[in-house]
Amino acid sequence: MILRLPRFDSHLHQALCEGLVIGIEGNPKISGLISNNDAFEIRKNNTFVAWYVRKEQIQEIIAKNEILKFHPRREKYTPEEVVVCIEINQPRLVIFDTLNYPYWEPSDYFEIVRKFPKTIFLLAHAGGIQMNSFVPEIILSNVYFDFSATMVIFEVFKNKKRREGNFLTSAIRILVSNPNSRKRLLFGSDAPMYSRENTFRAYKKFGMRRQELDANFLGFIDEIGL
Ligand SMILES: [Zn+2]
Repeated sequence: MILRLPRFDSHLHQALCEGLVIGIEGNPKISGLISNNDAFEIRKNNTFVAWYVRKEQIQEIIAKNEILKFHPRREKYTPEEVVVCIEINQPRLVIFDTLNYPYWEPSDYFEIVRKFPKTIFLLAHAGGIQMNSFVPEIILSNVYFDFSATMVIFEVFKNKKRREGNFLTSAIRILVSNPNSRKRLLFGSDAPMYSRENTFRAYKKFGMRRQELDANFLGFIDEIGL
């Protein structure tokens, strides 16, 4: 049976479909990945782009009122530096790579989220090492999540035994069972590094359907004003 994927993908590094394309970090080996310089060229209709913030740019005006992605583990900027970067760039959306242990603690993210209540945040790769620390914060209305990479790395899409033995599962169940956080769960795959199909299989295991994920994405871009 053909697996019909959601129309929108909130975490892409190639313009494979409609959604949110993020300029790539480092020097990728795979050809066709979107660089920061390419990113703003490809913006059109339902394809939006995010700028990956490098350490050397953290004190600069990069692009006002756009989408910025921060990756503290790779770039090693401090929470204080990120706060200043948000203040001077006033992004409409901040994407955090949450796989940043041990450089950042969960409290570092949420102090920033609370400091900018009018800014929308997307916690990408939710379910990293400290997922359970994030769960109490799900009621914050300015936070969206995607489970790109983590659902595939932790094999949540596989059989029940895999899923039930997985520390991610309880956190995802809480997010899915809360109406506030459920509508802020986005289908993000991290393609082409991770499989869009397997990521969607994992979302389906938790009862998230294609139409609902697409509606969540549309609500998301509406909220950030795109
Ligand atoms: Zn990514």
